[in-house]
Amino acid sequence: MLTTNPFDDDKLREECGIFGVSGATGAAALTALGLHALQHRGQEAAGITSFDGTLFHTHRAMGHVAGNFDRDDVIRGLPGEVACGHVRYSTTGETALRNVQPLYADLSTGGFAVAHNGNISNAMKLRRELVRRGSIFQSTSDTETIIHLVATSNYRTLLDRFIDALKQVEGAYSLIVMTPEGMIACRDPLGIRPLVMGRLDGAVIFASETVALDVCGATFERAVEPGELVIVQGTEIRSIHPFQAVSPRPCIFEWVYFSRPDSIAGDQSVYSVRKEIGAQLAIEAPVDADLVIPVPDSGVPAAIGYAQQSGIPFELGIIRSHYVGRTFIQPGDKVRHLGVKLKHNANRALIQGKKVVLIDDSIVRGTTSLKIVQMMREAGAAEVHMRIASPPTRHSCFYGVDTPERAKLLAAKLDLGGMTDFIHADSLSFVSIEGLYKALNAARDGKPSYCDACFTGDYPTTLTDHDETATVDQFAMLAERVA
Ligand code: SF4
Repeated sequence: MLTTNPFDDDKLREECGIFGVSGATGAAALTALGLHALQHRGQEAAGITSFDGTLFHTHRAMGHVAGNFDRDDVIRGLPGEVACGHVRYSTTGETALRNVQPLYADLSTGGFAVAHNGNISNAMKLRRELVRRGSIFQSTSDTETIIHLVATSNYRTLLDRFIDALKQVEGAYSLIVMTPEGMIACRDPLGIRPLVMGRLDGAVIFASETVALDVCGATFERAVEPGELVIVQGTEIRSIHPFQAVSPRPCIFEWVYFSRPDSIAGDQSVYSVRKEIGAQLAIEAPVDADLVIPVPDSGVPAAIGYAQQSGIPFELGIIRSHYVGRTFIQPGDKVRHLGVKLKHNANRALIQGKKVVLIDDSIVRGTTSLKIVQMMREAGAAEVHMRIASPPTRHSCFYGVDTPERAKLLAAKLDLGGMTDFIHADSLSFVSIEGLYKALNAARDGKPSYCDACFTGDYPTTLTDHDETATVDQFAMLAERVA
């Protein structure tokens, strides 16, 4: 199988998207709409669970939201005014239906459905202990650990059991939980993964990004705070902060690449921040060039910022085909290398004889950058300069983002000169970590106000299950062995 979005293949892959609604007629249909807007956060599988006041109903499927949740019979099978949903790209646990969320269990306190964005970085250790005490796991997902911790807690009420469970986990979690008593939305104390809250008439909505509120016609109310639990029971909404307060460290990569540019994150327009990163890049790494060309689509806002700051004209030098499906079964190796051109092609007439500066959001393995530089040269570019709107990605993420093992990250293997040679560019520069913070109107002195560990190696939590050489995919194998 050849992915026909090869420029996106060499990226850190975002994790998951979650959505929940309480108090709306047709809650499942609204959830499907919201998940559709969050599809970029996970394209492998999708699921929705609804509650009709008596029973929970679930539909989970491999593939996109459209195609699975645009069918009347599926939505009719998810009745009720409360629903939550999940789009998934597997970060821990193999790609299998049993790992597709929301996960559900019948506990002594009643039904419990959970949708999780993030990764529990001590889930393996907790799982071993739970299995030793008799827990029987149904999936290899780290999220199921939370369910077993709730089930085995000695506290009496569901809320106390849930808080007890969360106090035992480390890592990143934004969660939407449904029980017969109501809905709970929460973020880990560091607020690593995002979660926002909105209103639609009398209904309360939670979502990973504000674009999911927009698509439903809901109004953005506020972000769920790091360490906050928002509890919705009918029309009553309560907020509690049961954890010791710590300085938040939201994932800085949300502004670099993960979130949609039309989202508002941390009270800032993601699009505006990306433009500002591009402007910083132009200040830090100017180049004598004729054209600024974005690597589509994620490089576009930073390229606009770079062009405006530098005065070099912005042009669409790479054209993206919008008529190619997500994947393409390729007939043989001979065709495989043409995959890049299937979706993106150089705008030859524009590029011929020009000195171009290409803007991309990040370099992970470097294989895509190499292909793009080659594409520019084949189209007749006189010089090809590459500018990257994030610092070098040198470390793996253990907080719900799919990163290759460290040894495969180009910037972990090579210095700047080596990377420039590898991609065959005339020059290569990355925005500095200080420049990235500046674009976010923040400073990185003393205590960083974001998680930036994939650039700096400064992980904001302990990593009980992992060391720097492990990948989160190894979790699935370990989980199988422990189960
Ligand atoms: S390590 Fe990188 S991708 Fe992972 S949460 Fe931190 S900033 Fe985000």
